[in-house]
Amino acid sequence: MWGMPLLGTETEYGILAPGRPELHPSVVSAAVVDSYPGPGTRARLDDDHSIPLEDSHNRFLGNGARLYVDHAHPEYSTPEVTSPRGALLADLAGDAIVAEGARAATEALGTPVLLFKNNTDGKGASYGYHENHLISRAVAWEAIVEGFLPFVVTRLVFTGAGRVGLGQASTQPGFQLSQRADFFEAITGLETTIRRPLINTRDEPHADRSRWRRLHVIAGDANRSHTSTWLKLGTASAVLAAIEAGALKPVRLADPLGAVQAVSRDLGCTARLELTDGRRLTAVQVQRDYHAQVQAAGVGDAEVLGAWSATLDRLESGPLACGELDWVAKLNLLQSFRRRDGLDWDHPRLAQLDLTWAELSDRSPYAALVRAGRMPELVSSSEVERAMVEPSSDTRAYVRGRLAGERAASVGAVDWTWVLLGSGRRRVRLDDPFGGTAVDVGEAGGLDGYVNARL
Ligand code: ATP
Ligand code: MG
Ligand code: MG
Repeated sequence: MWGMPLLGTETEYGILAPGRPELHPSVVSAAVVDSYPGPGTRARLDDDHSIPLEDSHNRFLGNGARLYVDHAHPEYSTPEVTSPRGALLADLAGDAIVAEGARAATEALGTPVLLFKNNTDGKGASYGYHENHLISRAVAWEAIVEGFLPFVVTRLVFTGAGRVGLGQASTQPGFQLSQRADFFEAITGLETTIRRPLINTRDEPHADRSRWRRLHVIAGDANRSHTSTWLKLGTASAVLAAIEAGALKPVRLADPLGAVQAVSRDLGCTARLELTDGRRLTAVQVQRDYHAQVQAAGVGDAEVLGAWSATLDRLESGPLACGELDWVAKLNLLQSFRRRDGLDWDHPRLAQLDLTWAELSDRSPYAALVRAGRMPELVSSSEVERAMVEPSSDTRAYVRGRLAGERAASVGAVDWTWVLLGSGRRRVRLDDPFGGTAVDVGEAGGLDGYVNARL
């Protein structure tokens, strides 16, 4: 289906159980995954009732999402969705699900379990936030890299989550726009945890590989701000649609890796980046160029395009007024503490505030700003609650979610492209990401009719 976006995100959460430091983070993470009480499969049991290692602490939920342990972090992978707003809702449903898992794990372990939506522990470790976008296989890989790279480098001006500390282990004091910027060491590559590339070359489409590619974007921050999340996903989707339509002539950055760190350290958003054609543009100007081309191509979500352009205008007239963005709101808050108490950037209280900003808890200063009406929420909490249990209706996540939620006892295993059902392990194929929707199930006369026709 040409033209319809399809995307999903993955969030690895930071985790702490400060009361029981002897517990390995992977044990605490497993407790979060296994204790989440909502509908979904449990870890698969073998015939001798043991959990096969490759399947342990790996669940698919009633909303079509995946909840598992990765690199000792709890990770939530959203179901596939088809709009920026759907992606924002799915992302927030993940935060709410792991927070509920953490409350249940707190009971199970007898000690508070804290979760953080950030990307670094400030001591040198970084963990990921991945965006996944479906793209036609007909698009040349080189066109994707060329077109997407300058966009992903300069979008930090509105997608950055803000970070106290410079350098991977925060060895220099200061504040920067992005949590993740200091961890990129290559332009393209297969890795996600060492020598991290700005563009990840992993090619696992989770769909018919002759028709599709799944672009696995690892160069993004995990955001609390609804606006930052929505713009991050909506603009990326629009830029990729323009690339897919052959309508994008990208600017070329002379030094993309150097530029990421330069943009991340440029709190005024005025630094100029060198292009290969000799021009020098600010990150906001590069984004403007993308916006104009996307608009001319007639692709992307109209609301996102309007907000993108308005945000760029406001960033240009002074970023500190853009308090709906994560990094700006965080910076304004930290600056007020710095002024009031005369704190230098290396004061431990500022690092602590940066951490609690990311904490999935009412204690977080982010949550306090939302309560005070100073950070807009773009979706309501009742919509988020629904997205925690209901699958998106217009992708295959609908069938996956209904099987994982309603038929958990008869589900042998689940993956993005199939579900194994019953003791015979019959395989329901879900290769087409746009198939298995609520409409398809209705036309088949219900879930059984759909499943029987696919076996
Ligand atoms: P891992 O994180 O274990 O290394 P992975 O990158 O395959 O592997 P998962 O955590 O399993 O990631 O999550 C897959 C993500 O890709 C989900 O967010 C899902 O919504 C999304 N997704 C699934 N199929 C497609 C597709 N065909 N195109 C784009 N996104 C997809
Ligand atoms: Mg993952
Ligand atoms: Mg991934």
